[in-house]
Amino acid sequence: MLTGPHFPAESAGAPGGGDLIDRLNETRARIASAATRCGRSPQSIGLLAVSKSQPVERIRSLAEHGQRDFGENYLQEALPKIDALRGLGLCWHFIGRLQANKTRAVAENFQWVHTVDRERIAIRLSEQRPHYAAPLNICLQVRLADEPGKGGAAPEQLLELASTVSALPRLKLRGLMCIPPARDDFEEQYALFAQLAERQRELTARGFALDVLSMGMSPDLEAAVAAGATMVRIGTAIFGKRKAKA
Ligand SMILES: *Cc1c(COP(=O)(O)O)cnc(C)c1O
Repeated sequence: MLTGPHFPAESAGAPGGGDLIDRLNETRARIASAATRCGRSPQSIGLLAVSKSQPVERIRSLAEHGQRDFGENYLQEALPKIDALRGLGLCWHFIGRLQANKTRAVAENFQWVHTVDRERIAIRLSEQRPHYAAPLNICLQVRLADEPGKGGAAPEQLLELASTVSALPRLKLRGLMCIPPARDDFEEQYALFAQLAERQRELTARGFALDVLSMGMSPDLEAAVAAGATMVRIGTAIFGKRKAKA
């Protein structure tokens, strides 16, 4: 249920949206200058606005300013928002931990899942993806550093997982995703993202047609772009600091 704080009237629709839209534009500018610095086209990097804990009105304001892609972590929170905004034609990305008993609702309501890390989940998503919908876009989540309790497939499991997912009829394997441990130093951030880019190159060399590297969050999007990110997932830099989840 959405029992979040109330946000001030900044997001009460056109005109403006005030700070929220300023931060959206600042984020776009950050991505563009990170891209330019490493000789990439800013258009080659998609912005996924991570709207967990944010109310429908703020998502609507961003949509009015051209933001199409939104990421959600918690199914129960996401479903009413997706429902309320259905007329806007937004693209919804599931980026949270995925349990087997939640796959059906994800397969029915999202266009993307970034956090597939095991076969069982992939098979269920494919079986449950409705036939009237396009195949579900999939990124495989990779665990780059050992952190207890974190999701993600181990790098040595990737090839097999990629083969399984590519063979599933209602899924479309698009690329890899990671949530590396937070680092303050650009070089350390870059080194982790570069590992994911390397895994992507290995899979591509084996014939998988992958076009998405989902990596980079508010504090480290510059390093992710430098390492080849094609989709950055940004919450705090757009929406401001989240309240802790109750
Ligand atoms: C919350 C979250 C983000 C956004 O993080 P910020 O630091 O707020 O930009 C990105 N990806 C995932 C998987 C998340 O859970």
